[in-house]
Amino acid sequence: MDPTKLYLSYHVSAAGGYMAMGRRAAALGGNTFAFFTRNPRGGAALKAEPEDAAAFVSWAEERGFGTLVAHAPYTLNPCSDKETVREFAHLAFTEDLQRMELTPGNYYNFHPGSHVGQGTEAGIEAIAALLNRVLTPEMHTTVLLETMAGKGSEVGGSFEELREILDRVTLREKLGVCLDTCHVWDAGYDIENDLDGVLTRFDKTIGLDRLKAVHLNNSKNPCGSRKDRHAPLREGVMRPETMLCAALHPALAGRPFILETPNDDAGYASEIAWVREAWEKR
Ligand code: FE
Ligand code: FE
Ligand code: ZN
Repeated sequence: MDPTKLYLSYHVSAAGGYMAMGRRAAALGGNTFAFFTRNPRGGAALKAEPEDAAAFVSWAEERGFGTLVAHAPYTLNPCSDKETVREFAHLAFTEDLQRMELTPGNYYNFHPGSHVGQGTEAGIEAIAALLNRVLTPEMHTTVLLETMAGKGSEVGGSFEELREILDRVTLREKLGVCLDTCHVWDAGYDIENDLDGVLTRFDKTIGLDRLKAVHLNNSKNPCGSRKDRHAPLREGVMRPETMLCAALHPALAGRPFILETPNDDAGYASEIAWVREAWEKR
């Protein structure tokens, strides 16, 4: 992590493996990327070939790529009330972390989960239990808990809930947090009028040293709506400048910023160029 650089990219398709993902990101102006370790709705895993991964690692190093932010499938729910769903979470997590060792030193981000009526406390307990099963002292990946919008029975809609998960995990040094700007806004954190205040609250509750990555998204809904519907950076409820303030905030410098905005390739290239231009002029 080099705080003098802007690491910015988007969610690339995992098709074709690591080199293909790297080239796809670079083609749109990205210098890191996010990808789903398997189909976002579950199902087949990314084809992970050791030779392809090794070639990518040196290629990315030569280019000064930032830390990758792999994303677990949405169907991964460690605090489901169904045993089969919890078992899938364990299996997918374990397999994904093994695969992440092909590209050591990157991030694996996941949605903490939905407690589906069992209560936040039970949810936090189950999420921490899964982490205590899958984290190992030998692993080279940092696992990120994503800040959530608090939709339905989602756990992780407040910094305090994330803190409680962290507190229950033995190998806490393997954990960090990915801040999603749409999610925190929807959860009620007013990053439009008080980004500094929100980051201070994050720092006091969790610690900014644990904030490892940012999902940079605008929102289709007002602050506190608990909806989780992403908007393009310049077309959401928040002002475009708010997106730039987040991307250029000194306290967040050096983190990978990942766009999860509804866009086609041209849209991503345009958003990346727009943020980069502001960064150059800062
Ligand atoms: Fe996510
Ligand atoms: Fe996100
Ligand atoms: Zn979202």
